[in-house]
Amino acid sequence: MSMQTELQNQWQQVLARDARQDGRFVFAVRTTGIYCRPSCPSRRPRRDSVEFFADPREAERAGYRACLRCKPTEVSAQALYVIRARQLLDNAEGVVTLAQLSKRVGLSPFHLQRLFKRATGLSPREYQSARRMQRVKTGLRKGEDVTTAMYDAGFSSPSRLYENATEQLGMTPGTYRRGGAGASITFAISPTPLGRMLVAATERGLCAVRFGESATELERDLREEFHAAELHRDDAEMGRYVGPLMASLRGENTIVQLPLDVRATAFQRKVWDTLQRIPRGQTRSYGEIARQIGDPNAVRAVARACASNPVALAVPCHRVVRSDGDLAGYRWGVERKKKLLEREQASS
Ligand SMILES: [Zn+2]
Repeated sequence: MSMQTELQNQWQQVLARDARQDGRFVFAVRTTGIYCRPSCPSRRPRRDSVEFFADPREAERAGYRACLRCKPTEVSAQALYVIRARQLLDNAEGVVTLAQLSKRVGLSPFHLQRLFKRATGLSPREYQSARRMQRVKTGLRKGEDVTTAMYDAGFSSPSRLYENATEQLGMTPGTYRRGGAGASITFAISPTPLGRMLVAATERGLCAVRFGESATELERDLREEFHAAELHRDDAEMGRYVGPLMASLRGENTIVQLPLDVRATAFQRKVWDTLQRIPRGQTRSYGEIARQIGDPNAVRAVARACASNPVALAVPCHRVVRSDGDLAGYRWGVERKKKLLEREQASS
């Protein structure tokens, strides 16, 4: 992950008050001289007055004081187990089993699995698989061939990689390596009530709708992902896409029907089609979507398909929540999901 992407993610996690990040980093506010854990309930500062540090010691070395409200130095013993487990997995050469991990962390497999999952949203096995895929992506973007990137990332065979790749990359590794080669992509960045919105399209249709805090970061991430495509910004030309999306944000347009040009597995396609039929102002649970596509046991796969949606609003993945009403996650921050749903419910 690039430094900028990492910073952008940390800022998103701060905006979302993501408690799963507590213990992973702290953020400090230049104007107040105070540092907090990511989940601190205090009002959010402006992005440009925030600095990130790996831990409280670093923040204090830079002259910041601990927040009295969220007490960032008191990370629980439970969080420490998870931090230790993540460090072990991050630095491991090959695959680490749950039994091996539990022995090294000093916690029973059952408890470790539960704590880890609660803190990261993933089991240790899923976490390792996501890390490996991240390494493959980095290798492919650097121009490595698929085989080299695969072995460098610790995949034992091409079939294991392809099994994981279509789901996690939304495309085959070869296509990802090509980075949109041959495609011509036009994009626009506009201010919205939810922050900056980047809208990108090929000649065939929308390929990305994303939210972020900074236009520079949004553009950089787009260029990184479509590193081999020909990209140019043209806010006027993109009006025909941006217009309907903005109208939908304002509550004037009930259904966004725009041509899409996104790569998807058959499963993702099925889930995204179903999401497009959820009426504005309503929500569905992951389980309901799974039943609707005729695969009632695929609740987690549905959640992953929602999380990998490349086109916010056009595929309204924000309308899917957990069955207990909890908003669950959102690729562009749970705060934005909350605001979107509030706006939709108020205007429908
Ligand atoms: Zn605080």
